[in-house]
Amino acid sequence: MHGRGHRQERWLHARISADLEDALKREARRRRTPVSLLVRNVLEGALDLVEEIVEDGLEIADTSRRLAQRVSRAARGESDDPLAEIYGWQEIVLNRAARCGRCDVDLPSGGSAHRGLSERPGRPAFLCSKCLRRLRRQDDNP
Ligand SMILES: [Zn+2]
Repeated sequence: MHGRGHRQERWLHARISADLEDALKREARRRRTPVSLLVRNVLEGALDLVEEIVEDGLEIADTSRRLAQRVSRAARGESDDPLAEIYGWQEIVLNRAARCGRCDVDLPSGGSAHRGLSERPGRPAFLCSKCLRRLRRQDDNP
């Protein structure tokens, strides 16, 4: 392995259970790859994932929240559409950036958007002007 682009490589000994060793050997056989390479790939993949999770932490939290809302709506037998509760859209000028609840496009602060009016409490929903035009066209041509 020396002199072939592996200058930074180090040995790492780790104590593992017999079950884990069996599982690693089985997976290595299945992938037709050496156990050491499999372990390295799995570790690198796990670390990449951790980095992505840290980077995308906010987004994941947001996605988890939306998922939880969907699950609870489904449990109550309500529509899966997060905008189903909205009875109207009111044009506003955004004081802080938001996202379109339909197409997820960024809505910058200072720009105009449409805020969803709902009888239920919760976070406000916004609609971009494109999605609003689409909604109007649906109403025009049933
Ligand atoms: Zn939109």
